[in-house]
Amino acid sequence: MSSSVSRAMSRALVVLSLCMGASAGVSAAECACRYTDKAALQSGAQAMVDGFVAAVRDSGKADFTGVPVVVETTPNLIYVNLDRRTIYVPWWDDMDAATQGVFTQLAGDEASGRRMFDLLFQQFFVVHEAAHWLQFQASGLRGNADFLGGVDLYRNESEANAFAVAYWMRTPEGRAFLDEMAPVVAKAHAMLPNPVPADTTAAAYFNSNYDALGQDPMQYGWYQFQFVLDALAQRERLSLPTLVAGLDSEDADAPHVGVLWLDPNAAPGLLVDLPR
Ligand SMILES: [Zn+2]
Repeated sequence: MSSSVSRAMSRALVVLSLCMGASAGVSAAECACRYTDKAALQSGAQAMVDGFVAAVRDSGKADFTGVPVVVETTPNLIYVNLDRRTIYVPWWDDMDAATQGVFTQLAGDEASGRRMFDLLFQQFFVVHEAAHWLQFQASGLRGNADFLGGVDLYRNESEANAFAVAYWMRTPEGRAFLDEMAPVVAKAHAMLPNPVPADTTAAAYFNSNYDALGQDPMQYGWYQFQFVLDALAQRERLSLPTLVAGLDSEDADAPHVGVLWLDPNAAPGLLVDLPR
């Protein structure tokens, strides 16, 4: 691809939290995630977060509190700010053409790119960010800096995607939604090179090179998509109560939820969606 497209892709991927996917037709039956205006998006995304909060409370963490959603388009696209205690969600028409073009590139065509954006950034990652909010509350830490410096970033990113998948599997439309999203993410992931050196594991490489990886959107995108794919591959087994129970695990080395990381050499994740 051209360098300008590559640069645009890099920039967008760096800031994206996780991304890509799409291409399956644009039948929207599975995901009502195309909104007519920002107020509708805010309301829809807030309902997702509120639904996640309620499900987590029902799953054993009764003291989990909610978090507001604001529609605001930034280079980060979608993220949770732990200092401001707010989840920010982007609006397609406010994104620049280069960023929109990244979706076109990864999905194959314009309509599929828009669908990918809708599936991931108007729906799936909204809950992913709410899961970071949950991790933050469970950690007892005080803000962005504490959180980014005090947790296992690989584990947290993997876990956030597992939470999102487990949550959507509990909803009436979730299975069809994830079935549509899966090939979209797989296609985008296949376009990105595996950045993990042969002499290390993905987890070790990620946790010891977090800042450098965060500067390279292609590497970041590869990791993030791999995490999403790992969680999707386990969607029949992921359980919200099990994930909630794992939040209190003191064993930093254990795959706390027992089902993540099908291939420990495959993918570390990043927390690029949390502003530094
Ligand atoms: Zn994340």
